[in-house]
Amino acid sequence: MPPTAEFERQLRDADLRVTQPRLAVLRAIREHPHADTESIIGVVRGDLGEVSHQAVYDVLRALTNAGLLRRIQPSGTVARYESRVGDNHHHVVCRSCGAIADVDCAVGEAPCLAASDDSGYVIDEAEVIYWGTCPACTSAQSS
Ligand SMILES: [Zn+2]
Ligand SMILES: [Zn+2]
Repeated sequence: MPPTAEFERQLRDADLRVTQPRLAVLRAIREHPHADTESIIGVVRGDLGEVSHQAVYDVLRALTNAGLLRRIQPSGTVARYESRVGDNHHHVVCRSCGAIADVDCAVGEAPCLAASDDSGYVIDEAEVIYWGTCPACTSAQSS
């Protein structure tokens, strides 16, 4: 069973009202990390029945603003969401099929990468995307 009680606590801790769409979105993203909006809408509808696109967009925005979700958008792809937040991990994206995997923060804490010249900015985060070819595409190419 999905940890509904945990999601309810997360919402309350973030001063957000507990609603079925919010719980369903958190559940969908926990089960499908790096899902895009369309996939999330599909999963939420499978869970709750008819829910409008706008309702899911609103939930995604509220949960992302509250820090419960992280939004990533590798260039050339639609936005993806995940519930693994706050650990400054990075992502590797397959150029061929678009698969996304997590890459742990190299240093263990933000900003992870020291800028060679910070231009006087106080840097608190580095968002790194590694690009390459996933194992499935690599083996498909070599066979
Ligand atoms: Zn691939
Ligand atoms: Zn991730």
